[in-house]
Amino acid sequence: MSHDASFAQCRSLAWHSMVESTPSGGLALPCCAQCGHQFYPPQRYCPRCLHGHIDYVADSGAAVVLSVTRLHHTLKPAIVSSLPLHVAAVRTDSGVTLFALADDMLAPGTRARVSLSRNGWAPAGVLRVRALSLPEQGGPV
Ligand SMILES: [Zn+2]
Repeated sequence: MSHDASFAQCRSLAWHSMVESTPSGGLALPCCAQCGHQFYPPQRYCPRCLHGHIDYVADSGAAVVLSVTRLHHTLKPAIVSSLPLHVAAVRTDSGVTLFALADDMLAPGTRARVSLSRNGWAPAGVLRVRALSLPEQGGPV
């Protein structure tokens, strides 16, 4: 098995649970059934109370960009042709901070939407963030 073929299988069981709970083009985030804490990345136990019952709740994906960096190198041959990649740190309106691929260098403070995307080199899914068009922007930053 090549490195690329095994990459999708490297995702955790918690990641796959999140993907299975995410509607097409949407976002679902882990949420502890005991204390209600929403978090990312998905994991088996709640990072706040260590409870093991994790639900995945639909999220609007509405977020604000905190920062973006440009990656010029990768250890994954399948995405070399996609370089450079833009990786954004974003905070969702529900209070979860996460990293997602961006289409461009988004300015900090940009209103955006995060969703789970599946494509050829990420069949197990990858988070993407896209800037909202101007009429959709607004709200607290
Ligand atoms: Zn908890």
